[in-house]
Amino acid sequence: MNLPLHKITSILNAEYFGNTSDAIIENISIDSRSLQNGPQTLFFALVGRNNDAHLYIKDLIAKGVHSFVVTYIPEGLEGKANFLIVENTLNALQQIAAYYRKLFAFPVIGLTGSNGKTIVKEWLNFLLSPDYNIIRSPKSYNSQVGVPLSVLGINEHHNLGVFEAGISTIAEMEKLEKIIQPTIGILTNIGSAHDEGFANLEEKIKEKMLLFNYAEVVIYQKNNDVEQFISSKTKTISWSFTDTTATVFVSKKEHTHEQTLIQYTYEGNISTLKIPFVDDASVENVISCLLVLLYLEYDAKTIQSRIELLYPIEMRLKVKKGINNCSLIDDSYSSDFQSLKIALDFLESQKQHQKKTVVLSDIFQSGLSNEVLYSKVSELIVSNKICRFIGIGETISTLKTKLPNAVFFKDTNEFLLYLDQLNFENETILIKGARSFQFEEIVAALAEKTHETVLEINLNAISHNFNFFKSKLKVNTKMMAMVKAFGYGSGGFEIAKLLEHHKVDYLGVAFADEGISLKMAGIKLPIMVLNPENTSFPAIIQHQLEPEIYSLKGLNAFLKIAEHKKLKDFPIHIKLDTGMHRLGFEANTIDDLIATLKGNQTVKVKSILSHLATSDDLQHKNFVQYQINLFEKLSSKLMNELQITPILHILNTSGISNFPQAQYDMVRLGIGLYGVSNDSEEQRHLENVGTLKSIISQIRTIQSGESVGYGRRFMANRESRIATIPIGYADGIARSWGNGIGFVTIKNKKAPILGSVCMDMLMVDVTEIACKEGDAVVIFGESPTVNYIAEKLHTIPYEILTSISQRVKRVFYRE
Ligand SMILES: *Cc1c(COP(=O)(O)O)cnc(C)c1O
Repeated sequence: MNLPLHKITSILNAEYFGNTSDAIIENISIDSRSLQNGPQTLFFALVGRNNDAHLYIKDLIAKGVHSFVVTYIPEGLEGKANFLIVENTLNALQQIAAYYRKLFAFPVIGLTGSNGKTIVKEWLNFLLSPDYNIIRSPKSYNSQVGVPLSVLGINEHHNLGVFEAGISTIAEMEKLEKIIQPTIGILTNIGSAHDEGFANLEEKIKEKMLLFNYAEVVIYQKNNDVEQFISSKTKTISWSFTDTTATVFVSKKEHTHEQTLIQYTYEGNISTLKIPFVDDASVENVISCLLVLLYLEYDAKTIQSRIELLYPIEMRLKVKKGINNCSLIDDSYSSDFQSLKIALDFLESQKQHQKKTVVLSDIFQSGLSNEVLYSKVSELIVSNKICRFIGIGETISTLKTKLPNAVFFKDTNEFLLYLDQLNFENETILIKGARSFQFEEIVAALAEKTHETVLEINLNAISHNFNFFKSKLKVNTKMMAMVKAFGYGSGGFEIAKLLEHHKVDYLGVAFADEGISLKMAGIKLPIMVLNPENTSFPAIIQHQLEPEIYSLKGLNAFLKIAEHKKLKDFPIHIKLDTGMHRLGFEANTIDDLIATLKGNQTVKVKSILSHLATSDDLQHKNFVQYQINLFEKLSSKLMNELQITPILHILNTSGISNFPQAQYDMVRLGIGLYGVSNDSEEQRHLENVGTLKSIISQIRTIQSGESVGYGRRFMANRESRIATIPIGYADGIARSWGNGIGFVTIKNKKAPILGSVCMDMLMVDVTEIACKEGDAVVIFGESPTVNYIAEKLHTIPYEILTSISQRVKRVFYRE
């Protein structure tokens, strides 16, 4: 964009304080951490339940940002920058986007629905890109914030827009409609579930349809529930498998293992279409795309030739372990300018090493001339402090003059030839390229070779769960995140890094070595060690960890070492036993504790804590109250007699949910962060974090009467297809999960585990599932959930999560 600040002031009806109102704004930002913020940026200080971006303005001014949309001018910053004061900064962001959208008159496709929005958007982009300069929402930017940011990316060279809109409750779509202003509307699969946030399915559909109020045409699967909300003035193009009155009637569906053949009737003509997918959801999504192509008057031949090339969409930026201790960010499926900006921000937030490297292909469809485009790219590379830049392709080599230290290759093959000489080592490498460059080969060459079983960790879900619990607390309550046992099996360093990003106050680990490896990996947050052994005290001191002290013996041992090292005010945490009877000072030892600490300058009591035994079980709420009362009494005594004001904390995850009145100064969040609650209502608000995945190694057919596995514990009573999965009890899958008790999920269907789980493998029944060797298998995640497995195996989710062996690689990703 390119608008003078005074123009924006008047569009927003803002109050202006500043002295450069003719400054030109080229870029809108809401992310204080982005290295792309600069003098031409207008920063919108959004205010959320847990986060107030006004707090970052001072830093941003220091980094060269001059212009801010705010609800107030933070103290001491008057006259230091341009401030546009508005009532609500999110509304203002939406307002400017709606204004900006109106400046462009080309067709805009607006998508909504419960499933498939992002895939249909990406596929339409692929199908239409030979003929249009398309601006589309990056990734799944479909929220109240994501949509305005997407629309603000339009420039004068675009001639088609594809934007998705996602809502979670009523009154949201109306706002998104004003920003997207779609001319072509698409409703993707609406789903039958009634989502939270809507009273019922009808309300959900009605709300989503508001996106199409002013559209010229609406494309959807024919259905009365939907049609009642389409205005009679709007043209419709519907499709159906059953209703011959639909605009496009799909009459025949045949599957092979690789593709689906459909026959469709449109305007009296019957055509066939080969779809390169077999699952129902993909077929429906392709049909949505087909209708758009028909509306835009493509002929059947062109449609077939383009749809044939559709590919599964990888919508997420995956972080993988690379060779020579590198970390890879795999974004090998797209290379447009918008998504490059997002990927660079992600690289910054994730950087696991000092050194940042970018491997980038030619960029297509920017709508800009190569000259302008690549100057912008070089500015991004410079402002993001990329240490090493590798360009692959014909046009990107124009960067040669702008980035003197960069290396260029004419294609992927040439790069792979030189790979060994590039000496990748201890760096974070963003690999981002258009699909035609087949950068997946680069990812494969640079990735650490592992077996196919991985535990995928959704970092967004951890953020979501963190914010969910934070929103339950008072604004000033601090949070300690428990990352003991390798982050409950989910990964230590990567999660600690993310939590640092979220400004968590403390980390908690069980043993000193866990804390040491976090510190060595560069984590700066204070780390409390719950169960320090006396032998680890020197290492605790050396690495600036903070021990929990739970006995006089431990205290004296620590003091001896600390005094010897002449330490002053070294932070320690005092654990009280109020009824858990695991670790801690009991009531009758408090006087001795006070006597030892009184006047002591070597250590400083940073916090006093206790742990609840029954916070998850309301039947025992009297016992919890007893523990809280005792904690209150003992901690008050310590504070009075020692004249200290430490942080007090007693709540774990279920404590936060059930006894928020006892949140004191801090809470210790554990399992909830990893997406598990013991309360089914609360569980619905949490997002699944870990998905344990594998693949099918082999499939065979056995006859009725034949058996599977050790001890012949499964006997087939019909002809059965058996799939072998390379994961077993050595990976942490309980043997008791076999023999028909447990199941895995393949192609969204349940495949029961047959016979006993072996050490490295298990076998499942896929007789009813269309699948082939190499297909993905979910061991746990959305289904079965960890909670479900725990219940069936008569244990708790904690045990399931922490049992997954370290030989299972963890892969981290963001939506
Ligand atoms: C593990 C642990 C927690 C976190 O418990 P969750 O139930 O996982 O939230 C809190 N405090 C202490 C002392 C712990 O050991």
